[in-house]
Amino acid sequence: MSTPLVEMDGDEMTRVLWAWIKEILLEPYIKLNTEYYDLGLPERDKTCDGVTVAAAEATRRLGVAVKCATITPNAQRVEEYGLKEMWKSPNGTIRRILDGTVFRSPILVKGITPYVPGWVKPIAIARHAYGDIYNSVETRVGGGNSAYLIVCDGEGKEVERKLIHKFSSDGIVQGVHNLDCSVAAFARSCFNYALENGLDVWFGAKDTISKTYDARFKEIFAEIYKNEYMGRFAAAGITYMYTLIDDVVARVMRSEGGMLWVCKNYDGDVMSDMVATAYGSLGMMSSVLVSPDGKYEFEAAHGTVTRHYYKHLKGEETSTNPVATIWAWTGALKKRGELDGNEKLAAFAQRLENATLRTIESGYMTGDLVPLFRLGGVEPKRLTSRGFLLKIAEVFTKIFV
Ligand code: NAP
Ligand code: MG
Repeated sequence: MSTPLVEMDGDEMTRVLWAWIKEILLEPYIKLNTEYYDLGLPERDKTCDGVTVAAAEATRRLGVAVKCATITPNAQRVEEYGLKEMWKSPNGTIRRILDGTVFRSPILVKGITPYVPGWVKPIAIARHAYGDIYNSVETRVGGGNSAYLIVCDGEGKEVERKLIHKFSSDGIVQGVHNLDCSVAAFARSCFNYALENGLDVWFGAKDTISKTYDARFKEIFAEIYKNEYMGRFAAAGITYMYTLIDDVVARVMRSEGGMLWVCKNYDGDVMSDMVATAYGSLGMMSSVLVSPDGKYEFEAAHGTVTRHYYKHLKGEETSTNPVATIWAWTGALKKRGELDGNEKLAAFAQRLENATLRTIESGYMTGDLVPLFRLGGVEPKRLTSRGFLLKIAEVFTKIFV
């Protein structure tokens, strides 16, 4: 490897898997070159979260990162780890610095049939990670009062006022916003991801009801598509479709998958959990953050698998699925290989993916997959976390070395 990967270590069970993946599946086969940042909670606390910012800045500089799952502290974690502060979500911090979009895509393998059996290809989901209800202001309104939407100029002088509602009884009100530049960056990230992965783009919002707000999303997407992407999409044989969110939901259910489903913030939050569940296990969902200027951060979509970690600490064996974390590494290695013109590195990553799928298809897997596995004549065998990684290495060696 020439250019280093930005490596962001994490917490709990995924931190354990992280070290084992490197030891068993990477270091014996390639010379890993990484710039290491420890995003584990103790180090974040020690550096007052400076390490997270440094890792994000390294990603801006080097272009490709691989990240382990990390704890987002809550009150209970502050006590458990004796934290100086309730540090913010590292993913949120990194996303803000890179101004990126998160794409999630399931890892399909023979023998694991999605709950929607028609979905034979992966459905990738892009979630806009800015604004709407996630940065909203809301309040309760007493009966008899009125709520207004007021816009002021830089000096605070009122330029627009609209009545939201004259409350005849007690109620609630909410103010949400978004930014044209954020929607535009989101649109470009989505169109770029679709081009790279050869996927049609389906975007749905509710512009028939929200004639200014949702309609603005639709307009910005249409404008950017027409001016910057239409020709490239035609050349790549892929399409862009906008339709109402209800229509997209209905079409997705009937589809065979294989598209990028672009979602506004709330839709993406909800629908990505539905899609992940439908494809089987959280341990089989990969995730990548892509910035509009082409920086990449690869990770698993799941968290640190706390329940398994507590078992591990007690000295019990766990059967935690490492596949999404392996995919974070292979995704990053492939992208690094592609950017550096290092075909050997990209080929290694592809082979590691193939060996992982081959291992599961031949009946060796972690406990989460066992009840889902159905493949004629193959009896699923439940391995421990480490046992499964060793099995993958055995298969890899048999096929490729
Ligand atoms: P989680 O770690 O994703 O785990 C939830 C449950 O899903 C697990 O208890 C396990 O079910 C199952 N699961 C998830 N990944 C699995 C895998 N690889 N193999 C087998 N089973 C798996 O979510 P959480 O418990 O809500 O969150 C734990 C911590 O992770 C929190 O501190 C949270 O802040 C953090 N988190 C981080 C990220 C990130 O860094 N991207 C994302 C989400 C959450 P069973 O227990 O039934 O086996
Ligand atoms: Mg959600």
